[in-house]
Amino acid sequence: MGCLVIFAMSRFRLLSTDFDGTLIAHGSDGRCSAAFAEVLMRHKRSGGVWAINTGRSLWHAIEGVERFHAPVPPDFLLTNEREIFHRTPEGLWVPEHGWNTLCHQRHLELFDRSRDLLRRIEEFAARHPGINVVEENDEPCGVITSDEEVMAEFVEFLESDDAVPGDFSWQRNTIYLRFSHADYHKGSSLGELCRILRFDRTEVLAAGDHHNDISMLDGRYAGSPCCPSNAIPEVVETVRAAGGHTASLPAADGVAESWHFFHELEPA
Ligand SMILES: [Mg+2]
Repeated sequence: MGCLVIFAMSRFRLLSTDFDGTLIAHGSDGRCSAAFAEVLMRHKRSGGVWAINTGRSLWHAIEGVERFHAPVPPDFLLTNEREIFHRTPEGLWVPEHGWNTLCHQRHLELFDRSRDLLRRIEEFAARHPGINVVEENDEPCGVITSDEEVMAEFVEFLESDDAVPGDFSWQRNTIYLRFSHADYHKGSSLGELCRILRFDRTEVLAAGDHHNDISMLDGRYAGSPCCPSNAIPEVVETVRAAGGHTASLPAADGVAESWHFFHELEPA
């Protein structure tokens, strides 16, 4: 009977999964895989919490979740790599006001004193046809590039600028890059969620595939980091260095594979 109980339980209290590239393969139909659906059911049956930790905006994440058709909805959406929303029993998404408000204020303040840098970024983009500056409320908030090579050039430019304020950072994901405060990323958002839920990092599995996931895969905020086989080399290195699991399968099937791997580590 003891074995049956262990089989049915999830050793994790929280799954923090990236969405694009991690749960849904790029270019796929965006639907949940059977293997990940089974993991989710087992996780939820044992009282686990599921958070999608994504670079998508709230509305774009909700749209993706609807298309994903998981057997259960996520409990939390961590959006724009820094905001936290929880789902009410009625299915509404409510902001975690304290965190989101402070996050918003600190970004306004950061961007206000980064005007010179933002001007240099706009000038650089104007000279490079493959770089488009994205605005939010008439202020630059990030860039979209024509391909990942151009993104690498843009990041090189940012890294070589000696006048970048120490707390000015960015979240990079394929051809998308969002300017951010260095204190706000998927990792710190996950840390705040654990603080709210009173979960320890050892109770968290985190899964991601790209640059913007590294902050939640380096072991600081999740005791069990993992990545699917399609993860970029920098993510694979981070997960390995943190003692996590690198799956042999892509996307959601890889996350399910890692979940099973961590459960096989559990003493019987
Ligand atoms: Mg991703």
